[in-house]
Amino acid sequence: MPELALLGGDPVRACPFPRWPQGGPADAARLLEVLESGDWGGYPFPNRLAAEVAQRFADLHGARYGCLVANGTIALTAALQASGIRFGDEVIVPAYTWEGTAAAVLAAGGVPIFADIDPDTYCLDPEAARRAITPRTRVLLPVHLAMRFADMDALVRLAVEHDLILIEDCAHAHGGQYKRRGAGSFGDMGCFSFQSSKLMTAGEGGAVITSRLEYFELLQSLVNCGRASLTDQFKRRVVGWNYRITEFQAAILLGQLERLLELAERRSHNAAALSQALQGIPGIRPLPPQPAITREAIYCYVFQYRPTDDRVSRDLFVAALEAEGIPCDGRFYEAVYRSDLFPARAEDFPQLAADRERPLDYRQFDCPVAERAAYREAVWLPQFVLLGDENDVEDIARAVAKVMENRDELAAAGEGRAGLKAMSRAERPRLERQRNY
Ligand SMILES: *Cc1c(COP(=O)(O)O)cnc(C)c1O
Repeated sequence: MPELALLGGDPVRACPFPRWPQGGPADAARLLEVLESGDWGGYPFPNRLAAEVAQRFADLHGARYGCLVANGTIALTAALQASGIRFGDEVIVPAYTWEGTAAAVLAAGGVPIFADIDPDTYCLDPEAARRAITPRTRVLLPVHLAMRFADMDALVRLAVEHDLILIEDCAHAHGGQYKRRGAGSFGDMGCFSFQSSKLMTAGEGGAVITSRLEYFELLQSLVNCGRASLTDQFKRRVVGWNYRITEFQAAILLGQLERLLELAERRSHNAAALSQALQGIPGIRPLPPQPAITREAIYCYVFQYRPTDDRVSRDLFVAALEAEGIPCDGRFYEAVYRSDLFPARAEDFPQLAADRERPLDYRQFDCPVAERAAYREAVWLPQFVLLGDENDVEDIARAVAKVMENRDELAAAGEGRAGLKAMSRAERPRLERQRNY
């Protein structure tokens, strides 16, 4: 009889983990209020609830101003546009992130330049970022990935030293703090997403926070078809778009904001227990603690698959873990320059050819730490598995231990039909995957 559920054995866990997203009667009441008010849209900007959420969200992170927008990709695009980057300017982004981080740069006329990540945090490596700086570099765009912060001490220093704009992609970091400062408050602007999988969600939505009035005014104009902001001290006239959020989304976000820190604490507590349990499993390495984090934001719990031999691939390990009843993913992200969701060519994005001898070819990038994480090492668990109790944590650790202990079975099957089928599922191109986390 096989042990592993992937090969026909009994799974460690048969019951589901807590649901995500979560809403309740207070959300329903607020939605009904918006419905009956007739004040549904994003104009006049900002609407009552949107204005309230934006301000409270900015306050939570220690920024002066907040501007809500339609989604996180738009938040990044608007922030880049407000930063004043010009066609062909280079923006340094980590190689290991959601494709949207780089796509926003292209949308704003910039050129994403990929730099490698730190092997212990999976966030932008400040030294790799330094090496990527050229005379065309205008912006540093670090991402606070999964459950860690980019090294903000080093990145702020680098930005000051080279006179670069610093924009933080905080799509995973709602409520998080680094040395008691809120995510998104270190640089010029911080960008958040409220897409379904994120730590606060209205199905879709996004926010930009900043402490500079000039950026805030520009953002309001960019978001609202070029119209002047309510304060309009800087009198900057720009072409704008409609990037607005609705009052229905804002109504949902108000409730999400009220629950954010309580849920963050629960995740943090369970994550500590999980790290403790995984620590003792040979071949498994939890991410080392990052003492600079004073309040954790855990968008996904990430650990490293580091077996002493390569008989069983990370993707096959993930397929086996998932079959044990633990929602998880290996190719959650790719090295963006290799991803089939990032077919960026100069024919479509002329800035990749502007003032260059040869157009930028993304195949030339080589970020070994990002590639190792993406294709061989990182295992991602969605945050909702940490919203339950200690039994859930024990199940996860038991399932990981079980798969590691039965790697012989898995290695043997890997050669045969069942293993190959499982692997092909785990290695399916991201283009074909539709999942909500
Ligand atoms: C989700 C996400 C985005 C984009 O946000 P959307 O709301 O989906 O447009 C950008 N960057 C990162 C790192 C993300 O995880």
